[in-house]
Amino acid sequence: DQIIEVAGIHKTYGNVVTALQDINLGFQRGELTSLLGPSGCGKTTLLKIIAGLLEPTEGEVRVHGKPVTGPGPERAFVFQDFALMPWATVIKNAAFGLELKGVALEEREDRARHYINEVGLAGFEDKYPHELSGGMRQRVGLARALAVEAEVLLMDEPFSAVDEQTRRKFQEDLIRLRETENKTFILVTHSIEEAVYLSDRIVLLSPRPGRLKQIVAPEIDRS
Ligand code: ADP
Ligand code: ADP
Repeated sequence: DQIIEVAGIHKTYGNVVTALQDINLGFQRGELTSLLGPSGCGKTTLLKIIAGLLEPTEGEVRVHGKPVTGPGPERAFVFQDFALMPWATVIKNAAFGLELKGVALEEREDRARHYINEVGLAGFEDKYPHELSGGMRQRVGLARALAVEAEVLLMDEPFSAVDEQTRRKFQEDLIRLRETENKTFILVTHSIEEAVYLSDRIVLLSPRPGRLKQIVAPEIDRS
C-alpha cells in the first residue's frame, strides 16, 4: 500500500546549489524509512519537499497516486522546535490540530489524551511546555501530529536535541507506534547506528548534489 511517491525530483537553490538530483522513491504504509547521509546531502530538502513545505524545481510528489502541491492533512511535519504554544497545557497543545479542524472540545481532548498516552506522557496533561524537557516537548509535538490522524509523520533529526535515555525511550515509542497505529514515518538522520536500529529501510543520499546512492532494508534485531 504505497502512500507517498516522489518522482523525478530535482531541487536547485537560487540556480546555484543543486541540492537534489533525480530522486525517485516510494513509501509504504506502516514503514519507517530513514533518510541517511552526511551533512549537506539534501536530507532536509527532500523531507520538506515530501511535506509540501518546499517546491521541487522539477518532479512531483504524489499522495495515494495523485500529484500534490503544498502541505496536506495526511502528511504531518513534526518540527524540531515543536512549535508548541507556551501559554497552553500539554493537552491543549496536543488537541490544537483538532481544534483547527472544528472537532468539539470533549472529543478532541479524548483523542489528544489517547495520543499523549501513546507517546508516554500520561500524567503530564496539565503541565505547560516550559515544565517539560526537550524530549517531552518533542513528544507533545508528535502527539499533536498523531491526533489529527496524519498517515505520514515527517521528522527532521528528531533525536538530536535530547539526552541518551530520552532518545532510547522516544525511539521505542516510534517503533511501537509504527506497529500499533500503522503509521508511516520518514526520519532524517546522520547517524548510521540510529538508522540501522530504527528503520525498515534506509535511503542513502550522497552529497553535492544529493543523489540516491542506495536503498537498504536492514534485518532488524531489536532484541
Ligand atoms: P542536509 O539536511 O542533508 O544537511 P540540506 O537539505 O539542508 O542537507 O541542504 C542541501 C544543500 O542545499 C546544502 O548544500 C545546503 O547548503 C543547501 N541549502 C539548503 N537550504 C538552502 C537555502 N535555503 N538556500 C541555499 N542553499 C541551501
Ligand atoms: P550493546 O552495545 O550491548 O548493544 P547498548 O547500550 O548499545 O549495548 O544497547 C542496549 C540496548 O539498547 C540494545 O539491546 C537495544 O535494545 C538498544 N539500542 C541499541 N542501539 C540503539 C540505538 N542506536 N538507539 C536506541 N536503542 C538502541
